[in-house]
Amino acid sequence: MSLLQVEGLDKSYTADKRILKNINFDIKAGEFVSVIGPSGAGKSTLLRCINRMVEFNEGKITFNQHDVGSLNKKELRQLRTNIGMVFQHYNLVPRLTVIENVLHGRFGYKTTLQGLLGRYTEEEKDRAFYLLEKLGIHEHAYKRCDQLSGGQQQRVGICRALIQEPKLVLCDEPIASLDPSSSKIIMDHLKSISAEMGITCLVNLHQVEVAQTYSDRIIGLNNGEIVFSGTRSELSADQ
Ligand code: ADP
Ligand code: ADP
Repeated sequence: MSLLQVEGLDKSYTADKRILKNINFDIKAGEFVSVIGPSGAGKSTLLRCINRMVEFNEGKITFNQHDVGSLNKKELRQLRTNIGMVFQHYNLVPRLTVIENVLHGRFGYKTTLQGLLGRYTEEEKDRAFYLLEKLGIHEHAYKRCDQLSGGQQQRVGICRALIQEPKLVLCDEPIASLDPSSSKIIMDHLKSISAEMGITCLVNLHQVEVAQTYSDRIIGLNNGEIVFSGTRSELSADQ
């Protein structure tokens, strides 16, 4: 059954330029799909349309049987708890600890007045620790995020996206700022933990080889259009 369906999607930021042009694809629950394409192809815009961080102009996006384009504010919040996001620059709060950043993904900040980690319940903390341990960074739980390496910060970013147990996780160039060995660690973790939790992944990448190593399916985007859609072996045959 399809978890995400994109039909005839069009997006322009300005009247004179179409960024996404008649995009159509379908993602089944449990799939690991990569979107590849050069910088400026529209990959990031595509992901942002799916959880309506940007509004699209034409077409229909159906997620988990809900029409994304017609959701009201409350439904949009519900949608976003079902869709986690991982960003190229991690988007963590640098001055907060690792565990506070992860807990924020599910429970929101309790910082302004309540301030302290002690305000989270044991169950909430256990859940965060479970994920940090899975990603091998639990020993850094009480460090500030700005004391970690890029690869470690991205592991925190993944924990934060997964703690809400989303159905789908959108990853926007998750390894573009990392060296090859950190990139491999991130991709290995993303692949194994999403499979274990039954979470569907849609990942923007610009390296074809990485997409081929990890994906069930690959969508090629160029200049706002889908130029390829198929399995990794179909992509190899195409080259
Ligand atoms: P990619 O992720 O493949 O690099 P993007 O979706 O970031 O592509 O960008 C696609 C095009 O949309 C680029 O030409 C970019 O300059 C333009 N663009 C992205 N965001 C905005 C915005 N907020 N306003 C205007 N143009 C934008
Ligand atoms: P249901 O899933 O049966 O519609 P829920 O209690 O799960 O009911 O959802 C409460 C509200 O949030 C409903 O208005 C529903 O339409 C909306 N909603 C639920 N799941 C999603 C989702 N994945 N995406 C968007 N909206 C959703």
